[in-house]
Amino acid sequence: MNTTAELQVPDHQFFETLRQAPHRLLMLDYDGTLSPFVHDRFQAFPYPGVTDLLSEIINRDKSRLVIVTGRPLQEIIPLLNMSPLPEIWGSHGWEHLHHDGTIEIYPMSIPVKNAMDEAREKISQKVLLARLDIKPGSLAVHWRGLPEADENEIKQTALEIWGTYDAKEGLMLKAFDGGLELRAPGRDKGTATRHLLEESPSQVFATYLGDDLTDEDAFAALGDRGEGILVRTEFRPTQAKWWLHPPEELLDFLRKWRDCCQK
Ligand SMILES: [Mg+2]
Repeated sequence: MNTTAELQVPDHQFFETLRQAPHRLLMLDYDGTLSPFVHDRFQAFPYPGVTDLLSEIINRDKSRLVIVTGRPLQEIIPLLNMSPLPEIWGSHGWEHLHHDGTIEIYPMSIPVKNAMDEAREKISQKVLLARLDIKPGSLAVHWRGLPEADENEIKQTALEIWGTYDAKEGLMLKAFDGGLELRAPGRDKGTATRHLLEESPSQVFATYLGDDLTDEDAFAALGDRGEGILVRTEFRPTQAKWWLHPPEELLDFLRKWRDCCQK
């Protein structure tokens, strides 16, 4: 764990290793990593220039590029607005949009599903639907952009109702930037990362870029097969090896990645 704000941007050696790697895997979180944190989460579009660079990297056909996000696919697809779409793992690893367009949704166990249905039913009676996110494998309340009094009210309500479900059937109540989430056990961004690594040849050079606490599962999953990059304006303790300040350093990183992938 890196606990001091001394992490650097990926160095010359990083890109040299990337250039020479026979296989490359670039995994990217979305919110806070490729897009700025804005009040209306449905307006969280990528930083200018990001999707062009992602498309260029995909077109060079030298990297497997994957978006790994907590958002459900139905939310992330219009925000990314890319054609063709990249491969996406949505809803913290519960949904997988393959490169050929097929979608795979992983099922929850019956007891977990029943507990999640009940928790959804109870919160729906207390929190406005616009503040509620119902997705495969998790439920979330959002207070991004709300005045502090409203934020506290939603937070309190969610803690009261979902607090009783925390640890029931393995469910987990987790905070994220701007909300609280009740998650089914068994899958997270680390699961998606491990899945991708298992599918990759042994000499793959893997990188994961993320900003939030949920990305730490992915950083940990990389082990010695890849390097984590924290993308964030303010430092926080992390298992990532490198640190980028968005958007300039992120854009610079993507440009260098693209340039390391000559046809
Ligand atoms: Mg994020």
